[in-house]
Amino acid sequence: MPLTSFNPATGEAVGSVPVTPVEAIPGIVARARAAQPGWAALGVEGRAAVLRGVADVFVDRSDELGDLLTAEMGKPLREGRGEVRSCGGPGLLAELDEMTAALRPEVLKDGRTYTELIHQPFGVASAITPWNFPISMPHWMVLPSLMAGNTVVLKPSEETPLIAQEYAEILQGVLPPDVLQVVHGADDQGKALVAADIDLIAFTGSREVGKRILEAAAPGLKRVVLELGGKDPLVVLDDADVNKAAGFAARNSFRNAGQVCVSTERIYVQDGVADEFERLFAHRASQLTVGEGTAEGVDVGPMISARQRDHVLGQIDAAVSDGARVIGGGDGHHGLYVMPTILGADHSMDVMQRETFGPVACVVRVADDNEAVRLANDTPFGLGAVVFGSEDRAWNVAQRIDAGMVGVNRGVGGAHGSPWVGTKESGYGFHGGPHGHRQFAQARIVSRRTET
Ligand code: NAD
Repeated sequence: MPLTSFNPATGEAVGSVPVTPVEAIPGIVARARAAQPGWAALGVEGRAAVLRGVADVFVDRSDELGDLLTAEMGKPLREGRGEVRSCGGPGLLAELDEMTAALRPEVLKDGRTYTELIHQPFGVASAITPWNFPISMPHWMVLPSLMAGNTVVLKPSEETPLIAQEYAEILQGVLPPDVLQVVHGADDQGKALVAADIDLIAFTGSREVGKRILEAAAPGLKRVVLELGGKDPLVVLDDADVNKAAGFAARNSFRNAGQVCVSTERIYVQDGVADEFERLFAHRASQLTVGEGTAEGVDVGPMISARQRDHVLGQIDAAVSDGARVIGGGDGHHGLYVMPTILGADHSMDVMQRETFGPVACVVRVADDNEAVRLANDTPFGLGAVVFGSEDRAWNVAQRIDAGMVGVNRGVGGAHGSPWVGTKESGYGFHGGPHGHRQFAQARIVSRRTET
């Protein structure tokens, strides 16, 4: 049976892949297990040498693959092509070096004991991924799994199978047989993969599915790395550069039509600068061009699906009927396009608590730093957060926000080597940076007495 991928901008079929029968999954996992010792035996340096072989491919083919990504997912073409390039080039080479260093054996000595700390593969890993960054999400889960010496079965989102299939074929071009395999389908295939004889589940997706995976992993205590959803706050203090804060809000709330795990969805702005912030933010948002990702100058593409659009429009309607003010956008939605919308909301509304994953930002006015921190922390999520204000004061407020990644007068990404990490219900395990790479391996120690 084919799994057809549709262009969300036009409704046309982009292509199809065969759905993997659920009954075939145990056999695929068995092949991955048979291939694993050989892959592990290459050592981390050997594995890096193999994977370096794809660095140029993602750069050389970024236009062609970026076009496919945009056709399948809808984001503007420059973003689609950039996402493809980010999987290769110098960035990949640096990442492989960092992983190699993180996963080498370490020696610990205290005068009496000599210990070797090794980072050993778990065995067979599954990578289960979402559609919003349809090539980089598979890459972020597959690469550290492989580098740790696991073999991998990738189950990409059913919304974006074609670009994930291209990704896998590029890696398969350099990898030994069965080291990376792909299962196509939706939740039935995901469940069957989680239930199969695997050792590690590397998952990026929603909090709800993450919880189901954790439950399914419990009987065998399978290892998990779960990167989940968010409801990121932006705090604007009354000594902030309001123009910069508004510019950031417009970029970070509406990029990829808000279909980003670290999108700004909640904004807490202090009373003294609230009017100015709202005016500047609404102006910036009104300048964004909404349309088909392939068109020149487009900033915001369509929602991935009718289901996602209905969820987003439902949240807007419910907020407005509960008394939310429309500060910007709010109408003109058509097809799968949702206009960038800014609401003056109340912290208790559903739109302030549940992930929107669409181009909607809600502004709540706060009296002081304490109220901003209290409300910013008042959701089950803790992925990213951003604070705009004078450097020292914003830094202090940032320290008090319970999120894995907090940016001060900038976005959430850290310096090279930082993990991509969520607190609370946004993550359970994490990836990126030396600490993240080691989550894809089992730490073991072997010790002996040191001669005195
Ligand atoms: P989703 O959770 O619905 O699906 C993710 C993947 O899980 C898909 O491949 C899906 O087929 C599969 N799946 C569904 N049910 C399953 C089950 N019971 N067992 C196993 N697999 C199952 O998420 P989505 O709609 O594809 O993506 C959007 C979500 O991903 C948002 O919540 C977003 O915040 C999150 N996300 C998080 C990060 C991060 O780094 N933390 C990055 C990107 C996206």
